[in-house]
Amino acid sequence: MIDKIDVGIIGSGIFGASTAFHIARDTKLNVALFEKHDENTWLDAGSSGRSASIVRHNYSTDLMIKSAVKSHNIFKNFKKEVGEPIEFINNSYLGIVADKKLNALKNIVKRVQSFGINAVFLSPEELKEKHPYLNVEGVTGAIHNLDASYVYDPQEPLRIYAKQAQNFGAKFYYNTKVTGIKTSNNSVKSIVTDKGEVKVNYVLNCTGPWASEIGKMINVDIPVIAQRQQLVDVLPDKKWGLTRPTFSDHEQQVYVRPMRGGIAHCGGHYFGSECNPDKYNQGVDNEFILDVMKKISLRIPSLKGAKVVKGYSGLYENTSDTYPIVGEMEELNGFINCVGWSGHGYKHGPMFGILLKELIETGKPSLDIDFLGLKRFETGKLIKTAYGVNAPYG
Ligand SMILES: Cc1cc2nc3c(=O)[nH]c(=O)nc-3n(C[C@H](O)[C@H](O)[C@H](O)COP(=O)(O)OP(=O)(O)OC[C@H]3O[C@@H](n4cnc5c(N)ncnc54)[C@H](O)[C@@H]3O)c2cc1C
Repeated sequence: MIDKIDVGIIGSGIFGASTAFHIARDTKLNVALFEKHDENTWLDAGSSGRSASIVRHNYSTDLMIKSAVKSHNIFKNFKKEVGEPIEFINNSYLGIVADKKLNALKNIVKRVQSFGINAVFLSPEELKEKHPYLNVEGVTGAIHNLDASYVYDPQEPLRIYAKQAQNFGAKFYYNTKVTGIKTSNNSVKSIVTDKGEVKVNYVLNCTGPWASEIGKMINVDIPVIAQRQQLVDVLPDKKWGLTRPTFSDHEQQVYVRPMRGGIAHCGGHYFGSECNPDKYNQGVDNEFILDVMKKISLRIPSLKGAKVVKGYSGLYENTSDTYPIVGEMEELNGFINCVGWSGHGYKHGPMFGILLKELIETGKPSLDIDFLGLKRFETGKLIKTAYGVNAPYG
């Protein structure tokens, strides 16, 4: 293992891999990435590889809209931007609300339109006319984001970012767990791993659901908790096409996106208790299947009784305001977080790789990320989004 590097990244999820790529390709800095899982298991180990990887733009903050737009363009042109193509499918996104979130939704539609995104507000009548398979009873409105898409296989961009980063000179150390961080004079000095120690100028914490463990190494509370989220694939009688819109019920907090073979990939935002990211149940519970399918088939009756094909679980990495923690720590020079994406980070991986590269290279990222700092959890000035806490729609 090398003994000195400019930038040491911990974790090869979408944020670590994308940032390693941009630093290696676009700067003169040396970068190394440390990933505790081995070369056979890393793609499936974190949140990224188990993501539903839906790329929509409806957010209530300018930063998230701009980031989603830029990331979308990178996903869409992955061969040109990163070096190899991915399967990125433009199927659009339908998000419905009932009474209490209607005004928030209308404002979000106007906001995303002002960024040039092809999105419209639909009344319940318009929704029924355009999407007759939906039960719109009690629905007060919907957003139809026609530009929204999804990455078919969430592991594909990870693999390509990691490969291309290494082609541009980044060093990737798999099966290498970071166990400590040494500091002196309020600056990071080295990363300690189970394979040796490396002197660094910057440490980038991209450990998703494991973020708080890294915090303990520097005696800082990084308030990210790992929560298990389940997904179930069902096969309805009438097969689900790959370009069928992603459907999201913002009231019941459930969603469905297409999969190959006519399958509907169904999930929800269930906020259960904290779990150990190294030791959680990666399967799917009957209780969840019954609940999520009841909620989804209330809106899409044709999914009632659909055959269950398989299911699995992944981890959300939640903060208390569902916004991520990004930026250099005020008390520790050179220590940068990009964690706590609360179940909606995948779509931001490409752009935040660029922003983190800019932060390290120039100290000034091209989009303002200051409000994402860790300090807000100390001051209590949490980020308020249109839908409120516990709805990771931003
Ligand atoms: C079921 C599910 C559905 C989702 N759907 C969507 C969606 O549709 N759209 C969307 O935008 N987002 C979605 N998300 C959220 C998104 O996937 C995450 O926000 C994002 O992938 C987080 O990426 P990350 O790089 O921060 O973390 P991760 O992908 O978890 O990567 C962290 C890495 O750090 C490594 N690591 C941890 N500790 C150490 C250590 N000590 N030493 C070395 N390595 C370490 C881990 O092994 C892991 O590989 C979903 C998430 C889940 C679970």
